[in-house]
Amino acid sequence: MALEDYHKKRNFEETSEPSGKEKASGKKLRFVVQRHAATRLHYDFRLEMDGVLKSWAVPKGPSMNPADKRLAMMVEDHPYDYRTFEGSIPEVNYGAGEVEIWDEGTYEPIEKVKGKTDDLVMRAELHQNSLKFILHGKKLKGEFALVKIKNPKDDNAWLLIKHKDDFAVSEEYDAENHTSKNSKVTAYLNKKESKKKTPPPKA
Ligand code: MN
Repeated sequence: MALEDYHKKRNFEETSEPSGKEKASGKKLRFVVQRHAATRLHYDFRLEMDGVLKSWAVPKGPSMNPADKRLAMMVEDHPYDYRTFEGSIPEVNYGAGEVEIWDEGTYEPIEKVKGKTDDLVMRAELHQNSLKFILHGKKLKGEFALVKIKNPKDDNAWLLIKHKDDFAVSEEYDAENHTSKNSKVTAYLNKKESKKKTPPPKA
């Protein structure tokens, strides 16, 4: 049920993205941030919950600076297997472009509820449109909040905000500066850019 939209948007005979189904969570919930060069470069922030990856597209990418409130547009649930997906999505297909993992790890709710699994706690918070969690990633660490904007023009608009803690930074944070120099997505973008600059051959 939860993956209906995901399946509808994709042709699995063309794209190498996983066609996966819901999967039971392990002991620890996982998260992934994928850097995705599609029509526009953006970051996809995904939290495992309820056997799928709840997903938000973050145009500017996440920030470790609590002063930033990063717009995060909620998109369709992705299968749990998507957390390891990297590679090309062929032209014409939904999300066509290049995807790479920018950060990954486990996460947990800030507030634990006795007798409830982390998954159940997060699902309840999602229902309340306000998620508060701790990320254990390589780049993203510590407390974060993801809250739905009240009375937005767009019903899917949320904000991703770093909480003040020992991991928070006070200087400007640009996710692009924390991207590997060997990034395939960057190589893809550079190639696209140089194609644009090359004038078409004269007939
Ligand atoms: Mn995307």
